Amino acid sequence: MTNQRTLPQTPRPPQRDDGLDCEICGNRMHERSCKIICRNCGFTRDCSDP
Ligand SMILES: [Zn+2]
Repeated sequence: MTNQRTLPQTPRPPQRDDGLDCEICGNRMHERSCKIICRNCGFTRDCSDP
């Protein structure tokens, strides 16, 4: 009887840097349906903006 414990290791894939930095607070922004939203200060920005 073996008492081996196999812990499945799930290496974290590197996060894709698909966001921008908020120009107000500098936090990470998230793009959603062509809107880039800062979850920190609530600043939204259209993704078509340069
Ligand atoms: Zn912000």
